[in-house]
Amino acid sequence: MKKINFGKLKENILDLLYPRHIKCIFCGEELNEKSYNDTCETCLRTLPFITHSCSRCGAPVALDNDGVCLNCKANNFDFNLARSVFAYTDRVVSVVHKFKYNRMRFLYEPLANFISEYLSTWEISPDIITCVPLYESKQKRRGYNQSELMARYLAEKSKIPFHILCTKIVDNASQAELDLKRRKENVKGVYKFNNEYRQMIKNKTILIIDDVYTTGSTCNELSKIIKANGSKEIYVLTLAHGLGNQKL
Ligand SMILES: [Zn+2]
Ligand SMILES: [Zn+2]
Repeated sequence: MKKINFGKLKENILDLLYPRHIKCIFCGEELNEKSYNDTCETCLRTLPFITHSCSRCGAPVALDNDGVCLNCKANNFDFNLARSVFAYTDRVVSVVHKFKYNRMRFLYEPLANFISEYLSTWEISPDIITCVPLYESKQKRRGYNQSELMARYLAEKSKIPFHILCTKIVDNASQAELDLKRRKENVKGVYKFNNEYRQMIKNKTILIIDDVYTTGSTCNELSKIIKANGSKEIYVLTLAHGLGNQKL
């Protein structure tokens, strides 16, 4: 008979019951008293927090005098400003993938805590928090909308009302494989504004939460619709920024 390794068994059961608070969500190292927000001391020191960024979209790029990246120079956006907590490097990609594709739902809390900390330093005063909606059947398959989980948690923590202002009405191709021009085309007309919120958003400041900002096409399409329905200002805050390493 195979000998049971009780230590290992206990570890596996604990991982199942309490996946949080045991291992660093970024690198898998055991947490200790120097860890914070389910993140080990080493990761806290070395994670790619964005400190210098494009003043418009928050891309972690080398800055020129005017502080705006090439993507922002070439494009007009309907949101006022966008910011992200992390550059989208390997460790951040890996945790975002676990959250989105491996059903590790619990990650919304530590990840939204990083977003919340960023928000507390950003000089904006949103009246309403919203998220990027998923197409219904896709959300059912995944079991949840990762942006919604983070946005709801953030809203509760910051005592700002949360509403799903838009619905995704077209199951378009994934943005991941497309270039900038195709991304813009691909999101056209895929969202609709939920009319019951029209009065509520009049002259209000809206904050859109998402996991990854790449070219800004998705958040821009949502911003266009929300703006057309009467909001005053729109800001975007994402966990990670996928645009970077480009020279000005
Ligand atoms: Zn770590
Ligand atoms: Zn930019």
